[in-house]
Amino acid sequence: MDFSHLLKKRLFSPGPTEIPLRSQFAAVDNNPYHRTQAFYSIIMNCLEFLKGFFGTETMPVILTASGTGAMEAALVNLTNPGTRVLMISGGRFGDRWIKMAQAYACETTVVAVPWGQSLSPDELLQQLKKNSGIQAVSFQAVETSTGAYFPVAELARTVRQNSDALVIVDALSSLLCHEMNMDAWGIDCVFAASQKGFGAGAGLSFIALSERARSRLSVRPRFYFNLVEEMQAQSTGKTAWTPGTQSILTLQASLKALSAIGREELYKFHRQMAYAVRAALAAMGIEPFVKDQYAFSVTPFKVPSDIAGEKLKATLQEKYSVTFAGGQDHLKGKVLRLAHLGFVDPFDLLAAIAALELSLKGHGYTKALGLGTNAMMQNFPMWGEK
Ligand code: PMP
Repeated sequence: MDFSHLLKKRLFSPGPTEIPLRSQFAAVDNNPYHRTQAFYSIIMNCLEFLKGFFGTETMPVILTASGTGAMEAALVNLTNPGTRVLMISGGRFGDRWIKMAQAYACETTVVAVPWGQSLSPDELLQQLKKNSGIQAVSFQAVETSTGAYFPVAELARTVRQNSDALVIVDALSSLLCHEMNMDAWGIDCVFAASQKGFGAGAGLSFIALSERARSRLSVRPRFYFNLVEEMQAQSTGKTAWTPGTQSILTLQASLKALSAIGREELYKFHRQMAYAVRAALAAMGIEPFVKDQYAFSVTPFKVPSDIAGEKLKATLQEKYSVTFAGGQDHLKGKVLRLAHLGFVDPFDLLAAIAALELSLKGHGYTKALGLGTNAMMQNFPMWGEK
């Protein structure tokens, strides 16, 4: 019997993520003209919320471009040809940024970190000593392809105390799940994107520059990603170009909900979910890809060696209507990624783990059903509270 139409679609990719119905409704039957005071107020409202999540007094700006656009905006505005940038290669997104910096003729110093590992402040310090004259250090707070978390505060402090370099952080897969205090931590540029933890569709990104960054703008030609022009326009809620108006309405509704929860509660919630997922995997005999410095937003795990990862992913999708993300590059077929950022709740994750247990069994995995879901319930502190 085919009862696939009865199954809910459950999405556990690290972007796009679930968009709450209430936020979707905010954009239904509403096609605003962006050159109106009413829309300027919506932009200002979103920027106020974003400011809080970035931990900055500087207003971020909204770009109608995916996260890769924000990566490019950071490079174009803050580096010149020949700028010496220290970058980390520890996964697909670090590598994408390195390629981009090289395309923009930056002089890159690449620090290779094995996939799944993080970088310690000590290692960074050694690199800064070895490579004098570094003008910018950039890294992903969470490398989405591996699930490794880079200790942002400590790394930023190391750079600021030992060099004059700008600190540029891709916070796409960390914002709202891990703490971010851009100003207090001395970070010069932070960016994020709508399809990650923000409960909005893909296509928007958010970027903030420190005073220091604004005093060191590049001489590169730029047009769409002229952040100074954009900051000037958005200081009154206007945008330099036509923004993704529908997505901004969705974003506003989701930001309102996220702000009502509050930063600290969001961090705690995501930390607990990551912990519970790891407990479930451990009980099932499944190894998470990252051992220590792991992300609270996404948990990549190793597929048992006698099972083809892509087939397991297909079973989850086709039989149970549950979407996990696959492994990327050389991890394709060996790793699956279960994301828990944005509007994912513990009951959603129970369904994900149950579907994983069923799928694994279907592929000949012999552990008993229920080990994962049981461990998850036991290890989710919120559920244990009286
Ligand atoms: N950086 C990180 C850490 C990401 O996870 C992604 C997307 N998964 C990107 C950059 C690129 O963003 P986009 O796909 O929105 O262009």
